[in-house]
Amino acid sequence: MTPSHSLNESRLAPEAAVMDVIVAAGEPWIGVIAEGQTLRIVDLEGNQAVDTLFYSAVDPRERYSASDTIRAQGNLYLTTGTVLRSTVGEPMLTIIADTCGRHDTIGGACSSESNTVRYGEHTRHMHSCRDNFLLALAKSAFALDKRDLTSNINFFMNVPVTPDGKLTFADGISAGGKYVELRAEMDVICLISNCPQLNNPCNAYTPTPIRLLVWDA
Ligand SMILES: [Zn+2]
Repeated sequence: MTPSHSLNESRLAPEAAVMDVIVAAGEPWIGVIAEGQTLRIVDLEGNQAVDTLFYSAVDPRERYSASDTIRAQGNLYLTTGTVLRSTVGEPMLTIIADTCGRHDTIGGACSSESNTVRYGEHTRHMHSCRDNFLLALAKSAFALDKRDLTSNINFFMNVPVTPDGKLTFADGISAGGKYVELRAEMDVICLISNCPQLNNPCNAYTPTPIRLLVWDA
């Protein structure tokens, strides 16, 4: 099924949220979203890439699969109506509201290695999403490590694909206050890197904070 690509707002009120946290610019976050709960990710200042991975909380070997998600919906971009699918094709979360309109799942996460290849050896020391993911996992109680870092979602990131199949990292289409909302279809571990990248326009060269809210079913 092709997602609608229509922008739609949520009726959920922040006052009713059971979790409401700010993730500082460049920092990671990890937590469990229970089946039926709704997670909202808010791009507080605009043009902020939010690199995200999901795992089944029951069996983390089952995790988000970009290829299964793309194939099932027949579309490269994620927006309202997109069902995020697992490595065994099960629905993990559904995007139920989206005021940005497009999210990437093919651009991958930044790392020290990709930074040095793309931008030069002088960027080796720079903080990256890969470091964020590993740091959050190391501090957590989840038995996940480097092998579990697979193709991720980049919420609010704009990676348009040209008619001849080229990927382009373009200026963001997000703006301050835009958000995406997901309903969990199973208990999931949510691993986020609020991308610290300084070398390409995915963060408008200035990483900024995000807000995470969770509502019970
Ligand atoms: Zn990054």
